[in-house]
Amino acid sequence: MNAALYRDHIIALQSCYSQAKSNTNQLAKLAALQTAQLSKKMSQHTEIACKKGCSTCCNIRVLAFPHEIIGIYFYIKTELSGEQSETLVTRIKSTAAILNSITTEQHDTTNIECPLLLNDACSVYPVRSLACAGYHSTSLSQCQKSYSDPTDLTGFIPQVREIQSEQESLTKAAYQVLHQNKEPLKKVELVSSLAKLLDSPTLINKWRKGRNIFT
Ligand code: SF4
Repeated sequence: MNAALYRDHIIALQSCYSQAKSNTNQLAKLAALQTAQLSKKMSQHTEIACKKGCSTCCNIRVLAFPHEIIGIYFYIKTELSGEQSETLVTRIKSTAAILNSITTEQHDTTNIECPLLLNDACSVYPVRSLACAGYHSTSLSQCQKSYSDPTDLTGFIPQVREIQSEQESLTKAAYQVLHQNKEPLKKVELVSSLAKLLDSPTLINKWRKGRNIFT
């Protein structure tokens, strides 16, 4: 991302972020802003092996910013049908219970399907995290190898350097906006944090006050 674009991106993110504290509808806009550049770059790279219906990467541990998780929470509660929302809530709580019983190391070496994945598609796609939006691969066989043996951490998933750089820039921009707003500068595990929000929606009021809600 060039310097001028990066500066404009920060200004847009900052505007959205400050408004999101009083109007959580802004969180979806913020998510779209966060990931638009990535989607554009990805569409320019035909060597990317990712295709609709392939979801092997939705079995790995995802770290997300608190505002991204709150955006996903509102999307589930307000944008999906009652039935879809109920299905997701049950799935999230059940996966979170598994995650709470294992260590981070075990999670890193086990395939645990993201509960937001329904029929091999991300059910919260418009508000997915930067980590999810930027993840990609140029080798389906490497993804399948990693999926078939998650304990083997020696392999790597080949990616497009230009997209990795874009994702790094966007992540840096998100940290900068959080820093400007004196917010906690920490990503947290997606599913267990989402389950905490579902159990205690009042945490969102604490987030509005700048508190660290996912300790
Ligand atoms: S949030 Fe969506 S894209 Fe990310 S791991 Fe879950 S299903 Fe996959």
